Amino acid sequence: METKVKKEIREVHKEDLQILMNDINEKSFRVQQIMEWLWLKNARSFDAMTNLSKNLRDELALRYTFRPLTVNKTQISEDGTIKVRFETFDHHFIEGVLIPSTDRLTACISSQIGCSLTCRFCATGKMERVRNLLFYEIYDQVAILQELAEKHFQKRLSNLVFMGMGEPLLNYNHVLRSIDKITWSKGMGMSPSRITVSTSGIAKQIKQLADDKVKFNLALSLHAADNEKRSKMMPINDSNKLEDLVEALDYFYKETHSPITYEYILFAGVNDSDLDAANLIKLCRRIPSKVNLIEYNAVEGTGFVKPDHTILDRFVSTLQKNKVNVRVRRSRGKDIDAACGQLANKG
Ligand code: SAH
Ligand code: SF4
Repeated sequence: METKVKKEIREVHKEDLQILMNDINEKSFRVQQIMEWLWLKNARSFDAMTNLSKNLRDELALRYTFRPLTVNKTQISEDGTIKVRFETFDHHFIEGVLIPSTDRLTACISSQIGCSLTCRFCATGKMERVRNLLFYEIYDQVAILQELAEKHFQKRLSNLVFMGMGEPLLNYNHVLRSIDKITWSKGMGMSPSRITVSTSGIAKQIKQLADDKVKFNLALSLHAADNEKRSKMMPINDSNKLEDLVEALDYFYKETHSPITYEYILFAGVNDSDLDAANLIKLCRRIPSKVNLIEYNAVEGTGFVKPDHTILDRFVSTLQKNKVNVRVRRSRGKDIDAACGQLANKG
């Protein structure tokens, strides 16, 4: 007998569920109930769908499968940051982080298992890329972090950032599909203006975002406004030069009217001089933007270190004097390796 691989229930189109309900003599409102279980109540098994008859649950289980993420480990930092290690159905691990601050509760999630890019300063970049995450695996991270937010902080998530493992724009379709579900008005209903996708800079895909008229925010991991320096830190810059990125970002702004965030990690003696600041200021004059200066979280063996406070303060004030909208992002959850660029399934 031919063995057919079962589809994951969340990949099944509503129309196909409708046909199934007809075939097995179930009322059509069951489809709506199933959609609610999947995208509002975040069920992770057929048996959890308690307002469906046992018979209908069995019929579903016969045809479809469920491949939810499971929580493998949870760690809480002394600053309140919570890191979760998730396990996929095929036994790989990814990480997501819940970051409380005075006015926000931010979830940071992964888009790939590992990363194929090899940014020199990043712990994830040292791992192999295993595979892209599926849209429902991306969604599950948010759903689970939402549950933890309510349990630990009695609050819902206020913001979502794709700044965990992986390069979101190299998993374009599934990232966009997951955001569709996360923002679905009848489901989780998060506003796209609260979501930020961070990219190391894939010009073609940035243009695609523009053509798709996305409503979420885009952040570019810049780290140097100079090709030579940027290429040394980020090999992706060899094939996606600053000129190409800038052109793609101009187009993105033209189509979406959404300002860009530039992420800039300061590395001592590498990109923290007055000339580096001047290059950054010039770039910021093109389209409406802001700069997040990120404190570097040391990763062993990279050779990069963060500059001392006087250098940081000087860089910030140079930007401010030139009317750049700049914020310094201190790192969180360092004691549990939960900070940006430290996610590597270590502990
Ligand atoms: N791949 C995407 C998103 C994941 S990385 C990207 O590169 O943008 C998320 C952010 O963490 C990026 O801005 C990245 O440059 C930054 N980052 C990587 N390693 C870091 C480290 N060790 N310390 C601080 N930030 C780091
Ligand atoms: Fe990948 Fe982003 Fe890390 Fe670069 S910084 S290796 S793109 S996860």
